[in-house]
Amino acid sequence: MISLPLSFLKCISDAAEAAYPKECCGLLVGRDDGAGALVVTRVVESRNLAEDGRHDRFEVDPQVRFDVMRELDDYAKQGHAHHRIIGHYHSHPGHPAQPSETDLSKAYEPDLVWLIVSVVDGQAVQTTAHVVDSEGRQFREIPLRTTDWQPYPVREPNQT
Ligand SMILES: [Zn+2]
Repeated sequence: MISLPLSFLKCISDAAEAAYPKECCGLLVGRDDGAGALVVTRVVESRNLAEDGRHDRFEVDPQVRFDVMRELDDYAKQGHAHHRIIGHYHSHPGHPAQPSETDLSKAYEPDLVWLIVSVVDGQAVQTTAHVVDSEGRQFREIPLRTTDWQPYPVREPNQT
């Protein structure tokens, strides 16, 4: 399970809507809660280096990742070594919040969570979280909750 404050989810949804019809992307910093769940403690937006207008392309700026890792190094020296990059997010403009074939082809880091936001007609409609198996062959959806412990996304009554 991955949990994050509602304000972070809103931040990611806003970025997804602002980037529409292109993809947004960014990094998720967080920690293990000691009970098997990941807690997002920071969301870092990146420009999408793969902005070619396609719905299934994103690339987090390596400089953003480098800067975050350097900050985490500094943070670790202050005794907060348990924070790390736990995943990243990107949007699927006009497509479901499920990993694409392209996503699978780039999923070579099994310890990272993939957060995917579906944007339909400019509106962020659903966010889901996924991890890839150790062979990088398939994604598995994991529960995503906001830290007020309401399940998210809220499903429509006609969905099961
Ligand atoms: Zn994708």
